[in-house]
Amino acid sequence: MKAKERMAIPRQQPQELGVAFRIKNFEEVTACFDEETAIREANRCLQCKKPTCRQGCPINNNIPEFIALLRDRKFEEGYWKIRETSSLPAVCSRVCPHEFQCEGACVRGKKGDAVAIGMLERFLADWMVTKGKNLMSSCALPKDKMVAIIGSGPAGMTAAFHLAHEGYPCTIFESLPAFGGMLSVGIPAYRLPRAIINAEFDALKNCGVQVENNVVIGKDLTLQQLKDEKGFDAVFVGVGAHKSRKLGLDNEDMKGVLHGVDYLRRVNLGENLNLGHNVVVVGGGNVAIDCARTALRTGSQNVFILYRRTKKEMPASMAEIHHLEEEGVTIEFLAAPVQLHGENGTLKRVECLRMELGECDASGRCRPVVVEGSNFMIEADAIIPAISQDVDHTADSGTEFEVTRWGTYIVDPETLQTSVPWIFSGGDSVLGPQTAAKAVYQGKVAAESIKRFLEGASLKEGREVRDLME
Ligand code: SF4
Repeated sequence: MKAKERMAIPRQQPQELGVAFRIKNFEEVTACFDEETAIREANRCLQCKKPTCRQGCPINNNIPEFIALLRDRKFEEGYWKIRETSSLPAVCSRVCPHEFQCEGACVRGKKGDAVAIGMLERFLADWMVTKGKNLMSSCALPKDKMVAIIGSGPAGMTAAFHLAHEGYPCTIFESLPAFGGMLSVGIPAYRLPRAIINAEFDALKNCGVQVENNVVIGKDLTLQQLKDEKGFDAVFVGVGAHKSRKLGLDNEDMKGVLHGVDYLRRVNLGENLNLGHNVVVVGGGNVAIDCARTALRTGSQNVFILYRRTKKEMPASMAEIHHLEEEGVTIEFLAAPVQLHGENGTLKRVECLRMELGECDASGRCRPVVVEGSNFMIEADAIIPAISQDVDHTADSGTEFEVTRWGTYIVDPETLQTSVPWIFSGGDSVLGPQTAAKAVYQGKVAAESIKRFLEGASLKEGREVRDLME
């Protein structure tokens, strides 16, 4: 096929559940491409000599090669091509903000629509999972040094995957009853079905990785005890950033105030939480959007988002904003809460202020400035502040860790070793709230460092590591 013919193919669109049906349940909204649609989309790729898409991918997936294999119907080979760099393709293909990563860097996006790289990755991953072919058969013989992984999110899963395939027995300690970290308690099932997370865990268990749920490191066992009493030779801390940031307003503990990831965790762990008719969500990222769409699905009728900048500045992905608006959630731009009003300890109204955009920084992001005297009131049964998340430091209780002023762990950017030599860390606990792909990348880097540490080898020699903290 000539380049001109490839350029003439429009970007393929996936089928989606109808709005009236989907807002009553947590079924996955976006369907996978079928075979012919996937191949048609793959034919849009120009197989660039300098594939900029790869630079945009935090894991450096070999995108042109897996697309070439897909269009030749070599689905299995295409999948394993992705697995050379990514341990969680079925997850990343669903939850990564591709328009800011690989697709945002695709040359086809300069004059039209980028190649739907995420959907093509998903096609290969789902094809393998549905055929049960995603389990690696060749697992290494067990070695005599053990690794503890704290947290079962994407960073921990990836570290365990690579270490287990090197033969190091790994045990994942997870404080919650579910595994997957933010993937299972933060991201709603309509974006990431639990069967997908389970399939990724099957791949881990297939190589002997143990998972211990409901163990809170820092309370039930300390990191030091893991080393001194349980015999672990190294530890990877991938606890993520699960502590919701507060608005800092009076009455923020009154009934009707639920913070973003706390709210999502409760719903995702099975709690039946109907927040009432009117729900206000604060924030512009994917967590805010997940909260708003979850509130709709749990029975609230009038859900809207307060965001202090404009649509252009929203950090959420365009696809998520599109789905949100389709489902009837209104976004009140250039507005922020200033006071919570309640009666008898229960929220009744949220007082807000209008904002305008002021000075812009070097990246072009403009500072929201209050419009004095613009106060207005919103009736609300619940408010969900979803403005950001911080690291919960329970796991490192009793261990002398160096942390940044944002509370994230300080690590060597090349090795991800913390200030305690036998402890490594990566993912959101180092980067702050970030994408699953970045957590996967750091899980892989940490696994290589831990392997070298256990073998007494140089942690740095002969390595090229992307610094995601830049
Ligand atoms: Fe294909 Fe876009 Fe990557 Fe070029 S930049 S190889 S067109 S996906």
